Amino acid sequence: MTDTPAPPPPTLRLTIDTAALADNWRALDALSRPGRAGAAVKADCYGLGIEHCVPALLDAGCEQFFVAHWSEVADLLAFVPPQQVAVLHGANTAEEAAYAKATGVIPVINSLHQARVWSEAGGGTCHLMIDTGINRLGVAPAELSDPAIQQLDVEVLMSHLSSAEENTPANAEQLATFRAAMPLVAHRATSFANSAGIALGADFHCDLTRPGLALYGGVPTPDLAGHIRQVAFPQAAIIHIHDLSAGETVGYNREFTASSPMRVGTVSIGYADGFLRSWGAKGYLTRQGRKLRLLGKVSMDMVVVDLADAPGAMIGDWLDVPYHLPEAAQHSGLSQYELLTALGNRFARITSADCANNAASAKPNAAQH
Ligand SMILES: *Cc1c(COP(=O)(O)O)cnc(C)c1O
Repeated sequence: MTDTPAPPPPTLRLTIDTAALADNWRALDALSRPGRAGAAVKADCYGLGIEHCVPALLDAGCEQFFVAHWSEVADLLAFVPPQQVAVLHGANTAEEAAYAKATGVIPVINSLHQARVWSEAGGGTCHLMIDTGINRLGVAPAELSDPAIQQLDVEVLMSHLSSAEENTPANAEQLATFRAAMPLVAHRATSFANSAGIALGADFHCDLTRPGLALYGGVPTPDLAGHIRQVAFPQAAIIHIHDLSAGETVGYNREFTASSPMRVGTVSIGYADGFLRSWGAKGYLTRQGRKLRLLGKVSMDMVVVDLADAPGAMIGDWLDVPYHLPEAAQHSGLSQYELLTALGNRFARITSADCANNAASAKPNAAQH
């Protein structure tokens, strides 16, 4: 038996600008006064990778980290002490509660059932989510007097806004409901705002904010636009170049027809990489800042672009996926959250520092140049 050789460089890469990520956290932290900012790092830091993002967040000064699933805890504990990790979905089973006890990670209690499960497992420090109107997870205000809640040792009393990125009376209503609930259960700190909630003003900040999207370059509300830098830069390589004659069609269902002879490039990015068909109609990739329009449908693992504005293009060239998130959301019809979390695991995730060091060697099929 021989060892499997190291694979050749992938034809997809995602550069994470960790300096921009750290700047975004510091900006959101400053905007969270009189509170401090934590970080939502669920879904592997919204698809960008815990191992790349969490060290940068720690360096910037972040001390509170939120994941959704118990399966996300182990990767985070490689970087963060357990008492700084909270699990938003809470413990519904004895196994989940026992895991929280064994690791020292803090469950967010979301229901009377979860409160009982936690106490039966021995209890201890927890956070408590109150449902002030999102009707997703959380204890109803009317349930707070239940003995199952009253016996909890609550560190952070939390709630979550349903529509923070909208100018709607629902935000003030939720805040009023949250404030009315605060005296009903003992706690040591409060937490309310997600990224967009930070822009709603100091009343919404409480002690701890929980930005996620904006850390990773999302701009949920124009108020944050001047504060947030792009963090994720996906690129895909050209894997084939060929010429079409007039009348030839491209891709699944032959949606594009060449009206005259043209040169096209096949690019290695598709559904599994988060590049969904909704990019098709108005979409483009760029090479050296020039737009190359998409031709026809995204077809499984590939997309075809018009090379009219890239006369020197070669196999192995990297094309940039336009991922300025507010604009990308407009182009693709996907939400900024979906754009980040859908980036698949075929991307080689590198940080901007790696990128500077490896710019030459990271090029796929470099021998062809
Ligand atoms: C995901 C999440 C956040 C972060 O929200 P963003 O809109 O990404 O900033 C904060 N709090 C809770 C409870 C969450 O589930």
